[in-house]
Amino acid sequence: MPSILRRLVGPCLALLVGLSVPLVAGAQTAPGPLIAGASFDPAVPTVRTVLGYDSGETVTRPSDVRRYFDALAGFAPDRMATGEYGRSHEGRPLWWAAVGTPANIARLDQIRANSRALADPRRTTPAQAASIIASQPVIVWMAYSVHGDEISPADAAMAAAHHLLASRDPAVQAWLANTLVIFVPTQNPDGRDRFTDSFNAGFGITPNPDPLSAERDQPWPGGRFNHDLFDLNRDWFIQTQPETRGHAALVLEWRPQVLVDSHEMGTDQTFFFPPEAEPLNPLLTAKTLESREIIGRNTARRFDQAGVPYFNRQTYDAFYPGYGDGWPAYLGAVSMTYEQGSARGLAARRSNGEILTFRDTVRNHLIATLSTIEASSANRDRLLSNAYDYGREGVAGGRGAFILAPNPADPTTVDKLAGLLVRSGVEVGRAGAAFTACGQSYAAGTWVVALAQPQRRMAEVLLSRDIPLDPAFLAEQERRRARGLGDQIYDVTAWSLPVMFNVPATRCAALPSVALTPAGPDLVRPAAVADAGSAYGYLVEPGVAGLKLMTGALRAGLVVRSMAHPFTRDGRRWPSGTLLIPRAGNASNLTQTLTDLAAATGARVTGIADSWVSQGPSFGSDNAVLVRAPRIALAWDEPTSAPAAGATRYILEREFGYPVTVVRSAGLSSADLSNFQVLILPDGGNYASTLGEDGVAALRGWVERGGTLITLGRATRLMTAESSDMLASRRQDPATEKDDEAAALIADEAHYRSLIGVAEPGPASVAGALIRGDVDQEHWLSAGVSPSVNVLVQGSDIYAPLTRGQGVNVVRFGGPDDLLVSGQLWTENRVRLAFKPAVMVNALGSGQLIAFTQDPTVRGYLEGLKPLLINAVFLGPANSSPNW
Ligand SMILES: [Zn+2]
Repeated sequence: MPSILRRLVGPCLALLVGLSVPLVAGAQTAPGPLIAGASFDPAVPTVRTVLGYDSGETVTRPSDVRRYFDALAGFAPDRMATGEYGRSHEGRPLWWAAVGTPANIARLDQIRANSRALADPRRTTPAQAASIIASQPVIVWMAYSVHGDEISPADAAMAAAHHLLASRDPAVQAWLANTLVIFVPTQNPDGRDRFTDSFNAGFGITPNPDPLSAERDQPWPGGRFNHDLFDLNRDWFIQTQPETRGHAALVLEWRPQVLVDSHEMGTDQTFFFPPEAEPLNPLLTAKTLESREIIGRNTARRFDQAGVPYFNRQTYDAFYPGYGDGWPAYLGAVSMTYEQGSARGLAARRSNGEILTFRDTVRNHLIATLSTIEASSANRDRLLSNAYDYGREGVAGGRGAFILAPNPADPTTVDKLAGLLVRSGVEVGRAGAAFTACGQSYAAGTWVVALAQPQRRMAEVLLSRDIPLDPAFLAEQERRRARGLGDQIYDVTAWSLPVMFNVPATRCAALPSVALTPAGPDLVRPAAVADAGSAYGYLVEPGVAGLKLMTGALRAGLVVRSMAHPFTRDGRRWPSGTLLIPRAGNASNLTQTLTDLAAATGARVTGIADSWVSQGPSFGSDNAVLVRAPRIALAWDEPTSAPAAGATRYILEREFGYPVTVVRSAGLSSADLSNFQVLILPDGGNYASTLGEDGVAALRGWVERGGTLITLGRATRLMTAESSDMLASRRQDPATEKDDEAAALIADEAHYRSLIGVAEPGPASVAGALIRGDVDQEHWLSAGVSPSVNVLVQGSDIYAPLTRGQGVNVVRFGGPDDLLVSGQLWTENRVRLAFKPAVMVNALGSGQLIAFTQDPTVRGYLEGLKPLLINAVFLGPANSSPNW
């Protein structure tokens, strides 16, 4: 807390007493303990003695949360241990703190090893498990504030740790005999500091409950996301970020039996804890759901005692496995989300006029934390036995295997998929020899996921092509939609890793008989250069790895060409998108540079002795397109969607190692873009309004002079707007397709419903389904891209295809009966999406317009679409005449 606030917070709470609204209910006298009647050992450091204020009096910075826990650990090193699991992008520590009895803190290594042993029944007999259970505490994992502007959980973590160490209640000490509590108080320190910065900067002389007050109204991008603007609460199985990667690895090391992820939600809401709303993922076990309910009932009892309202079975579902409460469930943990209505500051006025204080919100999360520990303690045997049974059931119920073969157009992406599975605790094996399974032949090196393994359900939830929604839930959604009510689907309904990565996956009923070598967590299989030292130069296979090598080569200043069409030489056919890197024009250390790049990217590089091509275009033809290193501008700030802008930058910079210039959108209309060859507008809101008429005209002029403009998702609305005069396609709006029937006679109920707009809704907004796109293989944009790709369709934007002369629909959706690959799609969206464009291209003057009608960068996890995006960014200018 800056000194100015430290000065102000004390007096300001006193000031509030005079206000007519009961602003800080509990603070009218010197605030007592958050939980009435609690009695503490005064020797234990409090938030006040360490940080200078009481719990709930102000929002604690991540560094101060750490300082407080360090003070506790310094005071009671026999009852608390701490450790780090990484650093955020901005260098802040990611850390945990364990609280337990002195006996348990002294044997943390053993407890961790026991917990892992319980999770694997193949190396732990029932007798051994029983002996572990007899002496093992339940590991209760309490994670907080993964969304940085969800502020009360981290402050509640401090209060809870204090409570456990200082309480004179013998019951609390009894809980610690049965549990080991691991706190992860600040899962997203960069986002939290972004919030506290804007909160402190906007603060006046007194907490302002108005939603318009600057202290509560965060500037873009807000504190929710981490540095890369990822929603960490969607990232657990894809682990793109240090926060999730480190946390997931830590969870695999400890294998907690109970895990809580504590959040905040809208100010008007009360408090949520499980049981969850429908839909439930069918791969969750009955025992997991039962334990969630047991703990939920205890929290309800504690909330009743404190007079705190709550709700269950509403809003927060349990379908997507990438949440902080989703992913651990498939390891067998009883994992739960807790949500408190946010004060988003020190006080908030709800729309019904009630004042919610930060102190209230901290107290509620404190109660929920303590109740969870209490219930876990009371159910120690059951929770530990269930953890053992989870692995047993995984092994016993697993038949056959998933077989993951390389996509010929992108042969190394399957390696990343295998590594990610290992990072989710799934055992993956690499076939030592060629084999046959399910009537297909597979080469040596193919990945095999045998399903008889403790983590069978994790494998199934990540690898199955589709996880169906409960038919009763779906019927209810159709009923609601027919009434003109919104659907109740909270997040995407499709996340299958093989589908998103465009990796062929087959589920075989029988386990193939081939020796398997266990895979590690590496995402890249380093490649060596074949025929290094060949006289003429090198060819590089396309795909994600080849494109990563390309961006690295461009940064290293190499001369790189991309073959626009397939060709054959020495009897081998090379696909379009093959990179040609000749010795001529490149430095003498070319072989070493490419060897290093191949090792880092996994790209497959082959030396060639001469340039002779027996079929297809020659290397000296204009089909060998010179790729230069473009300067890339990326729109940033309003109206971009923060996670979309973040994911686009993440893919280009962190995955492909290529720097971009992020430019605030508001400045684009007057910016001199002549220094850039590419401008990317990420998915977001109303660019036309931000740019203004003159800005749009200036952008058009920049394209005509050779710029490549790439729009992603809803940004494509700008390019296709009639007023922008860019791309000829138009977004299809069913509202304007209707005739004006307002004056017509109303014939019947159906007619009435159609007139008020509820009978034929649509296209409705889609939460997120994976849809097949067919790729025009002749176009330069599709060089090296698979004939079909899978597009995550979200929202309701659908466009008319370009006609000949207007441009090329390089990717279009499949037909109505076969376009859906995974997830839930409403019928009217299905029929309207059929054959419509997913990616459109047209030349404009000397430049290019490239429009993705859906965002290919979502969460950074649509691996199968990355080649199209990278082609757009690098081949767009190569096929234009920009100002280099
Ligand atoms: Zn949240």
